Amino acid sequence: MTGLAVSTPRLLLRKLHQVMAGRGNAEQRLDEIVRLIAGNMIAEVCSCYLMRAGDVLELFATEGLNKDAVHQTRLRVGEGLIGDIAAQARPLNLSDAQTHPQFAYRPETGEEEYHSLLGTPVLRGGRVIGVLAVQNRTRRSYTEEEVEALQTVAMVVAELVSSEEMVAATEFSDTAGNATLPHRIGGSILAEGLASGYAMMHEPRIEVLQAIADDVPLELTRLETAISALQSSVDALLAATNSLFTDESQEIFEAYKMFAHDKGWLKKLNDAVRTGLTAEAAIKRVQDDTRARMKEISDPYLRDRLSDLDDLANRLYLHLDGHTVIDRRNLDQATVVIANNMGAAELLDYDRRHLKAVILAEGTRSSHVAIVARALGVPVVGQCEKIGEAIEQGDFILVDGEHGQVFLRPGDDVQEAFSRNVRLREERQAKYATLRDMPSVSKDGEKLSLNINAGLLIDVDHFHETGADGIGLFRTELQFMVRSQMPKVDEQTDLYSKVLDNLNGKPVVFRTLDVGGDKVLPYLRTKPEENPALGWRAIRIGLDRPALLKSQLRAMVRAAAGRELSLMFPMIAEVAEFIEAKAILKKEIEKESKRSGNEPAKINVGSMIEVPSIVWQLPHLLNEVDFVSVGSNDLMQFFFAVDRGNPKISDRYDTLSPSLLKLLSKIADDCAAADVPVSVCGDIAGRPLEVMALLGLGYRNFSMSAEALGPVKEMALSVDINQLREFVLKLCDVRDHSVRDQLRSFARDHSIIM
Ligand code: PEP
Ligand code: MG
Repeated sequence: MTGLAVSTPRLLLRKLHQVMAGRGNAEQRLDEIVRLIAGNMIAEVCSCYLMRAGDVLELFATEGLNKDAVHQTRLRVGEGLIGDIAAQARPLNLSDAQTHPQFAYRPETGEEEYHSLLGTPVLRGGRVIGVLAVQNRTRRSYTEEEVEALQTVAMVVAELVSSEEMVAATEFSDTAGNATLPHRIGGSILAEGLASGYAMMHEPRIEVLQAIADDVPLELTRLETAISALQSSVDALLAATNSLFTDESQEIFEAYKMFAHDKGWLKKLNDAVRTGLTAEAAIKRVQDDTRARMKEISDPYLRDRLSDLDDLANRLYLHLDGHTVIDRRNLDQATVVIANNMGAAELLDYDRRHLKAVILAEGTRSSHVAIVARALGVPVVGQCEKIGEAIEQGDFILVDGEHGQVFLRPGDDVQEAFSRNVRLREERQAKYATLRDMPSVSKDGEKLSLNINAGLLIDVDHFHETGADGIGLFRTELQFMVRSQMPKVDEQTDLYSKVLDNLNGKPVVFRTLDVGGDKVLPYLRTKPEENPALGWRAIRIGLDRPALLKSQLRAMVRAAAGRELSLMFPMIAEVAEFIEAKAILKKEIEKESKRSGNEPAKINVGSMIEVPSIVWQLPHLLNEVDFVSVGSNDLMQFFFAVDRGNPKISDRYDTLSPSLLKLLSKIADDCAAADVPVSVCGDIAGRPLEVMALLGLGYRNFSMSAEALGPVKEMALSVDINQLREFVLKLCDVRDHSVRDQLRSFARDHSIIM
C-alpha cells in the first residue's frame, strides 16, 4: 500500500477545486469529493459524517460503505470512533480500528471488513461540524503526511458544508445546542443589563472563505508580503516600546520576534500554500497544528510559547491583503464583544456608541473589566466557557445580564421574550428614576448615604443623573490605566479639579493609586510576582517609591484649593503605614501652601479596610483617621484566601457567610465606639440583600456602581432597621456556610423590596 504521496495533496486539491466550481447540488458534490479522496488516498472507503441537531453525526456520503446507510447511520458525539473524533476534535489514526474499545459496530454499513481507519474532524470556526474518515482492509498505519492531507481536505469539506446550498446548513449554526431551539449559554452576571447586537471577536479569528488556491504563486506572494509586514511590525513595536514595556510584556514581544523569524514556522506556512491552499487556509492549517500540540503539552512554559505562536498566526492573518484590522474605535453597528478575558483599558478602547455588551469566557465580578463595564453601563456576562466554540463573527446575540445568560442566533420567541424583559427593565428604571429625588431614609427614619463609585470622567459627567449623595470611591488608577504614559501633575490636577467642579460641593472621596496586582500600568516596570494580589501593590508601592504618591497628593491638594478634600489610602495593613502616608500628605500640603499660599479649606484623610490585619488594630487606626471605608472585594479575598479573579473559586465562599458578617460587625462596632464615619465601597454595597444585612450590622453609608443605586435605594426605603438588627446580629453566630436564605426569608416576611 503506497498511500498518499507528499505531492498528492496539490493534485487532489486541484481536482477538488473543479468539483467545488462544478455543477450539481451540495450532496452530489460531497459524493464526488469522498470518491476523489478515496481514489487519491488509495483507501477502500471514504465517508463523511455531518453534525445534525442534538449532537448527532449522520452519514452523509460514502465511497466504499453500503450506500443505503447514507442518512441512516447515526452516531452520537462521543459514540464509536467517529463520535470520538468529534468529541475530541482531533484526528484518530488506527491500524486496527475494530479492536479499539470505542469501536461501535453498525451492521448496515458493512464496515466489518475494514481494519485501519484514519479520521479527522471537519471544523468551522473552531466548531466540529462533521467527521471525515478513510478506511482500508489491511491493518496499516497512515503516515503523518496522510493525516495532514486529510485535515487539509476537511477544510474544503467544511467550506462546502457551510455553503448556503447544503441541506443541513441551517442546522450547523446550532451544532453547539439544539437546532430547533435557540442556543443558550449560561454564565455569571458581571455587569447587569440587557442588550443585543452582533458578535465581534476581541481576538481575531482566522476565517477561511476559500480553502483551495486559484493561483498558487499569487498565494505565495500574498503570504510572503504578509510575513514581511508582520516581521516589520513586530520589530518596530519592540524597538519603539523597549523602554516602556514591563518585563513581562517585553518578554512576550521578544518571543513574538523570535517566532516571526522562525524558519520552521515560515517553512510550514509556505509548504501548506505549495500544496495548493490559499494563504488564509495555510495559516489556519498551521495554527490548527499548533493548537493540537498545545493540547498535549502540560509544561506551562511551553504552552505559553505555543500560545504565542497561536497569537502570531492571528496577527499574520490580519496582515494578509483584504483583511482590514477592525477599528475598535469606529464600529458601525450594535456590537457584542466576545473575549476570553480582557483588561479594563482594552474595554475602553471600543467605540462607546456601539458597544452594547461583552461576553467573557472567564472573568469575575470583581475583576477590573467588570468594574469599568458597570461604570459604563455595559452589561457583561462572564464565565461562558463554551462561547468561543459556539459563536461566529457577526452572529446575532442577546445578552441577558440580569440572569447571566446569552442567546446565540435566537428564534422569534426568544427575541420577543427578551424584548418584553427589556421593556420591564425600562419600566423598573423609570420607577428608580422617581426615587431619585427622594431622601435616602429607611422606613424607620434612619438617614442613609448612598453614593456611587467612579473613576472615569464619564461617571462624573453623569453624576447628577444618578441622584447619588456623592462619590464614595473615586478609583484614581483608572485614569492611569487608560493612558500610555504616566499623567503629569498638571494633568492630574486638571482631572481632580474637573471632578470637584462637577460635583459642585457634593462629597467625593479620592483614593490614591491602587496599582499592582491585576491593575497593570503599561509604563510602570514591575517584576513578575508569584502572588501579585499579595505583592507589591497600592500603598506598598506608594511608600517604597514615594515620588508617584507625592505627585498624586500634590495634584489633589492643588485641585482642592479653597475647598474640601477627602482622600484615602488603599491596602493599609498596619497603622504604621497609614501614619507614614499621612506624613507624606502633610509635607505636600505644607509645600503647596508655601508655593501658592493656597490650601484646601478642609482635608479628611481616610483609610480603606481591605486587609484583615488592620481590623485588629482598629482602635489605633481610628485615632488617626477622619473616616474609613471597607473595601469588601479585597477584604473578602484576603479573609477567605480566595483569589478574587479566579472563576474556579469565586463562588466558593458567600459574601453572606456568618464569619464575614461577624468581621464586618466588629468593624462597624469599633467605628461607632470611636465615633468615626465608616462606609462600604466594595461590590457588596451594590447588592440589595447584602446592603440589608449591612444595615442590620450598623452601616449607613454605601458606595456602589451607578447601576445599583436604584435597586439598593428601593430596598433601603422599605426596610425597618430596628426590626432587622437583632435578627442579623444573631446570624453572625450561626455555623452555616451562608445566611443568604435566612435573609431572603426575612425580606419576604417583612415586605422588604428586593
Ligand atoms: C475593594 O477591594 O473592595 C475595593 C473597593 O477596591 P478595588 O475593587 O478597586 O480593589
Ligand atoms: Mg481593593
